[in-house]
Amino acid sequence: MSNLDSYLSVNEVEDSIAALAQAYPNTCQLIKLPNPTTEGRICHALNVGRGLVDSSKPAALFTGAVHAREWGGSEICVYLASDILEAYERKTGLRYEGDGEGKYFTADQIRSIVDNLNVIVFPCVNPDGRNYSQTVEPLWRRNRNPTESGGNPDCIGVDLNRNYNFLWDFPNLFFPNTVRTSADPCDWLSQTYRGSAPSSERETQNVAWLLDNYPTISWHIDIHSYSQLILHCWGDDENQSVDPQMNFANSAYDRKRGKKNDDYKEYVPADDLSSCVSLADRINDGIKAVNSNGYTVQSAFGLYATSGSGQDYSHSRHNALPGKNKVFGFTIEFGTEFHPPWEEMKSVIREIDAGLLEFCLAVQE
Ligand SMILES: [Zn+2]
Repeated sequence: MSNLDSYLSVNEVEDSIAALAQAYPNTCQLIKLPNPTTEGRICHALNVGRGLVDSSKPAALFTGAVHAREWGGSEICVYLASDILEAYERKTGLRYEGDGEGKYFTADQIRSIVDNLNVIVFPCVNPDGRNYSQTVEPLWRRNRNPTESGGNPDCIGVDLNRNYNFLWDFPNLFFPNTVRTSADPCDWLSQTYRGSAPSSERETQNVAWLLDNYPTISWHIDIHSYSQLILHCWGDDENQSVDPQMNFANSAYDRKRGKKNDDYKEYVPADDLSSCVSLADRINDGIKAVNSNGYTVQSAFGLYATSGSGQDYSHSRHNALPGKNKVFGFTIEFGTEFHPPWEEMKSVIREIDAGLLEFCLAVQE
């Protein structure tokens, strides 16, 4: 891991992946996202691999800094890319140390990741929000879109992780008062305003654009903080694998979703669920080897009911949209606070990057 001594500014995030693209032209490629943010920032992702165009190799998408205050998500993505690219170039392995036994990836394993996969990191989905959190209001969560604010500075911004086109219209789709989402931009306490329409925000459109344009993406891990959790499908309700008709797209179940211990549960085929759980366990294996505490693997609903999340949107696409590839969606909630001192954050970066590399090995098996 590089020896920088603090969190990266949003410009430094962009500069870092641009520098990697320049330094390693044969093993990574910069991807320009089509939608500039409200404040005019242009975002890039970086594909680590031999190239996405016409590729038949599967791709994994890792997104960071969807929520502005969750510092560290961008750095996890940047250092992951930089570690893989440097080790590949030098033909060395990678070792991550913590208070556990340590996690070692061999040079062969690093080579297999670059040669057999495409790993797309999108380190800073919400640069306007992250910049605001880093310079003005540390606990800011949303983006900085003022459209629905009515000129009130307290009402600026949309919670991007409630804005995706998955059960977005929660008042009509969920049981009352179950879901942690707000339809009011001035609902300051919750900070979970969903936006004016599904996928109304340029930042969520950028993530959807990656999924649309790179149909080999088969896994999406959305990197958040904090709580030491690895979440898999679904976030709207408990899982069930017996009744395919009982699902998010079936209007017969509108206003029944989101309630614990009732009849409605969200359908996921048993094989898909077991794949998701075993991949999440492998992430945790990597984390535990570095720092022995380990994370908890559970369905996102086990935390609380959500609408419009990135994880569920990615996973729902193959059912909701014609011709879309199946994507397994995950959310990592890293660490134990939003802004740990940088030395502590470096330890979290090492554990999560070991977990993500272990994941990249697991999907090849
Ligand atoms: Zn978050």
